[in-house]
Amino acid sequence: MALADIDAKRFPVQKHQKYFERHLLILPSKYQDNEPNKLAIVAYSLIGLNILGIDTSKKYQNSKAWLLKHQQCARYDGFSIAGFIPSISIHIEENPSFSLMSTLFGLWCIICLEEDGLDSYHEELDVAGICRFVSKCQSENGSFVSSFDTLASGRILASSIDPTDLRYAYAAVTILYLMGCRNTQDFGRYISVEKLMVFINAQACGSGFGQYGEPHAGLTSCALSILDMLGDQWSTLPSPFFERTIDWLLHRQVSSQGSMTLMTNSNECYDIDDHGGFQGRENKFADTCYCFWCLNSLNILQKRIETKFDRGDILSEYLLEKTQSKLLGGFAKNNENDPDLYHSCLGLAALALNSGEFDGTVFLPKRLSRRIRMEAEVGT
Ligand SMILES: [Zn+2]
Repeated sequence: MALADIDAKRFPVQKHQKYFERHLLILPSKYQDNEPNKLAIVAYSLIGLNILGIDTSKKYQNSKAWLLKHQQCARYDGFSIAGFIPSISIHIEENPSFSLMSTLFGLWCIICLEEDGLDSYHEELDVAGICRFVSKCQSENGSFVSSFDTLASGRILASSIDPTDLRYAYAAVTILYLMGCRNTQDFGRYISVEKLMVFINAQACGSGFGQYGEPHAGLTSCALSILDMLGDQWSTLPSPFFERTIDWLLHRQVSSQGSMTLMTNSNECYDIDDHGGFQGRENKFADTCYCFWCLNSLNILQKRIETKFDRGDILSEYLLEKTQSKLLGGFAKNNENDPDLYHSCLGLAALALNSGEFDGTVFLPKRLSRRIRMEAEVGT
């Protein structure tokens, strides 16, 4: 069922709209505590509103120039590189603070503010500089760092302390995708796809992707989204691995019925209120955000392997009845916490994935991602 068709008593759209709009009151001023996270706050709010069917491009058009000020360039090894910095008020000119994550959040914001289609959004961006930035973030082992260190000499180098898990590889590939790359040949102009695939293979563990040998739903979604965007690298991993991954993902949905009951009754992490929700790892409580990560992974794999996730009804029930705040708007992590912006956006994204209205790979409502996918075909 489309989100717009859900009864207003079960899904009070206006409450959710107000919830996201409250977060956008920070645009473009104040809220200094949240300064380093500002682009993330704006992106989650704008994406949330667009999932609700609200066109943000007109209402927040005046903020586009402010957002574009976050796009900065720097010199790196004789090349000009560009990206989005997390904050213009704490930015130091000689010390470029742009990162893969703030660049991805910045691009999502710009896409949500494009009027009259997305034909011109590349014109406002330093596409070549952004692609070169992504290129410089790749490490020798194929993984990615998110940012740079500036040395006393003024030279800048890829960060020596950033974590290099699959989240940054996802950000790197998504940025290149949004810049127009569509296959290994396109991506290969900026990054080594071969090394990236070696890195992704090294993160495969039995029935999903993760660090330290344990599959993790969030990292699995990152890896599968990367494969989906690269398009032509699926054969690098054997097909039984993907079948086991589907099985593992299906078993992450907590159920109080059937054979799962026997397993879950003896499990101290089992909570009857989690029925229908997804957990991120084995023996964990259900969590709104993992409903998105697991469902996105299942959606991607369902396009390639014959299988069908058919428990969308209890998933919606879990989100609408257990983690949604019908009073304040927004979604919480579980049935005990207060709503927060991250889980509100991911909760809505999970519902919209379930109703076929969301493109989980690039994390945008289909209404927006369709235009990007079409635009790139005409192409950069
Ligand atoms: Zn969560």
